[in-house]
Amino acid sequence: MNVYDSNRIKDLFEPKGYSQTSKVEDADLVVLNTCHIREKAAEKVYSDIGRIEKKFSKNKKHDYKLVVAGCVAQAEGIEIKNRAPRVDYVVGPQSYQNLPEMINKNKEFISDDFLQNEKFKSLIFKSSNIVSEFISIQEGCDKFCSFCVVPYTRGSEFSRPVKEIKDEIKQYIDQGIQEVILLGQNVNAYHGQGNNKDVDLAYLLESISEFEQIKRIRYMTSHPNDMSDSLINAHVSNKKLMPFIHLPIQSGSDNILKKMNRKHTRNKYLEIVNKLKSKRPDIAMSSDFIVGFPGESDDDFDLTMNLIKEVEFSIAYSFMFSPRPGTPAYKLTDIDKNIKKARLSALQSLLKEQQKNFNKSFVGKELEVLFDRKGRNQNQYIGRSIYNQSVFITSKENLIGKILQVPIIRSTDFALEAKKQ
Ligand code: SAM
Ligand code: SF4
Repeated sequence: MNVYDSNRIKDLFEPKGYSQTSKVEDADLVVLNTCHIREKAAEKVYSDIGRIEKKFSKNKKHDYKLVVAGCVAQAEGIEIKNRAPRVDYVVGPQSYQNLPEMINKNKEFISDDFLQNEKFKSLIFKSSNIVSEFISIQEGCDKFCSFCVVPYTRGSEFSRPVKEIKDEIKQYIDQGIQEVILLGQNVNAYHGQGNNKDVDLAYLLESISEFEQIKRIRYMTSHPNDMSDSLINAHVSNKKLMPFIHLPIQSGSDNILKKMNRKHTRNKYLEIVNKLKSKRPDIAMSSDFIVGFPGESDDDFDLTMNLIKEVEFSIAYSFMFSPRPGTPAYKLTDIDKNIKKARLSALQSLLKEQQKNFNKSFVGKELEVLFDRKGRNQNQYIGRSIYNQSVFITSKENLIGKILQVPIIRSTDFALEAKKQ
């Protein structure tokens, strides 16, 4: 979502005569778009500011504007000015549309209201890619997991109307986009206006698939409690919807899930996975895990490891619990750092093994791949399989934008190689 927001900030400034630079010290305007999800985010921003200031002063250039945007801006607010006086403007993730005017008028210093509705109406949408594009359809969260800053930094749940989303997609189609990746902190909680009523994600997916030029649709990130039957069935009926789902569980222990205020159980998650697999047996599963949440015992951790063995993930992301100020879990007693580290390492080895095995199972078979960029080597192209794996190939012909059925000859830990064309 930060990539999406950064592109929108860039698009807001292009009509004002700005263009992107490759060297920070050449810039007239520097925007640091920040994430606050885990610890040290704010510290990293302050050290980046220092690094940027040094680069400019080395070049004896002092007339640049420095902006801190994103969730660190939202969380730190005015405090940023106290710690980094060189910062000119601070804008939160739901009010960055105000930035051009703030700079133009040079009056306000901070904009941190939750103006989701206004924001999308003021944005400009230019494609940043040639094949595949992110589209933010839902923002914010009302779920208040005890470890998470999102409800405080991105605000409450907001869904964009269907027409607005489709109008944005039309602009990307005009520029040749063939794949859309729908984004939301809880994308499957989507409940926007369409056809004069509240509609769900399955409806939106169906409506988007009516665009002939759109060949593939993906969405992320989903919450187990919003995994409706209509969405599960869309994975059978909607041929453009890719057989991959990112569905975080965080922990395999009900005891920890309760402390996390996740409001779902291990069994509920497994039921959803079984339902998905019974309807679409080849669906690739992905998840997020937090290791070392306060109070996590060896038994709790074993339950998480067992769940991973039971589900078998094609890929998954895992993090050590990071206490975030302002969240309920911040006050809980953190567990020993070495225990956390050892558990994370064991969990990541298991996930890596599963990813390796998943990729290996395609060697000798054909896979459908959408090629979207050039690789590092000569005549090399990289794309994504229907299961979201990275696939590379050598070809004399330009394959960018092509959807091909390719024979897989080799797998690495994180990617697949297809037969030379
Ligand atoms: N809405 C999604 C869900 O409910 O699973 C997750 C969105 S969150 C922006 C992305 C991931 O960051 C989470 O799934 C979680 O694993 C991780 N995360 C969030 N807060 C964290 C914390 N305090 N410590 C460690 N990881 C955290
Ligand atoms: Fe954060 Fe996701 Fe929980 Fe919302 S549902 S509070 S975004 S982890």
